[in-house]
Amino acid sequence: MAKADPHPESIPILRSQLLEWYARNRRDLPWRRTRDPYAIWVSEIMLQQTRVAAVIERYEAFLQRFPSLMALALAPEEEVLVLWSGLGYYRRARMLHKAAKFVAQNLSGSMPGTAEELRALPGIGAYTAAAIASIAYGEPVAVVDGNVERVLCRLRGWDVHDGAGATALRRKIESFAGELLDPAAPGDFNQALMELGATVCLPRGPQCLVCPFAIGCKTRGEHKTPQRPRMLSKEVAFALVVRTGRHPSPIHREVLLEQRSDEQTVMPGMWELPALREPAVPHGELRMTVRHAIMQVNYYVRIRTVFEGDVETLTVPAGERKWVPLVKAAEMPLTGLARKVLHRAHLLPAAPLDVIAPLSGSDVR
Ligand code: SF4
Repeated sequence: MAKADPHPESIPILRSQLLEWYARNRRDLPWRRTRDPYAIWVSEIMLQQTRVAAVIERYEAFLQRFPSLMALALAPEEEVLVLWSGLGYYRRARMLHKAAKFVAQNLSGSMPGTAEELRALPGIGAYTAAAIASIAYGEPVAVVDGNVERVLCRLRGWDVHDGAGATALRRKIESFAGELLDPAAPGDFNQALMELGATVCLPRGPQCLVCPFAIGCKTRGEHKTPQRPRMLSKEVAFALVVRTGRHPSPIHREVLLEQRSDEQTVMPGMWELPALREPAVPHGELRMTVRHAIMQVNYYVRIRTVFEGDVETLTVPAGERKWVPLVKAAEMPLTGLARKVLHRAHLLPAAPLDVIAPLSGSDVR
């Protein structure tokens, strides 16, 4: 039997060092305890641009309510959005639901069995298809996300500003990822590389002393990366209008909510607090100020308590506006901001996710 090349940069050495490191250091995450392609698919979609800590709780609740692809396919969209609430980027939930319905109607409820076939489903790109196929089916396809790109560039000493151009560099990374992939354990290998990028080879402050690639790495530290676009700041204001409702008991209190129209490009159909026209609010008392990040924008949001009689001072609603009993509000597809404000005002049951805003960027696993 041929001996493995002992050179620290050789592919067999890099593979075995990474897999050994992963076996010792992998985080015990719920989606790593299954080979069910549907469950892995849900986790991969949730993990896009969202922190692991935020996903864990939502993932388990989502699978409890929709334990199978058929259960998801048969559910109304509104219920899917409620279970997604707190994760942001609701388009992902809509696409997941749409794809589940497609599989139920056209493929008798069976998930496609290869990465190539998975890519034909709505919302599944090359990355997600490779992740599902390698982890669930053991197909030898390499996963390349932001974390993997960073690790491989540093490992090979590739300067992302070397003039090769983004497309050429991407091709070089994909080719190297395919070469490095362990065909005997593609699922574990892909997860190991992503795990290394998420926990050791960090964008700032990589921990090279504990890295399994340290000896073979050409960079051993931070390297030049394109600047992330700077976050923009925007100030907006919303109204918190609560009334007692038909019964005097606090349990029957109602909040005024407004539905975003279906034509909106962001969060269509979701329910939010009514927007305020400042400074034309006669009695609106400042209740709280909240920072809320959406994509590349930091919103600094002033929430004013507005009396029921002053509702006409609010902006004209773009969609439907209605009074909703607070006990029902938690079950509605609220925007992340509306849910955050209602929690902080102690009008909804406490939820740990109200403090976790989805992040921009792809390397936040
Ligand atoms: S040695 Fe450092 S820079 Fe190189 S891959 Fe490991 S953590 Fe990243």
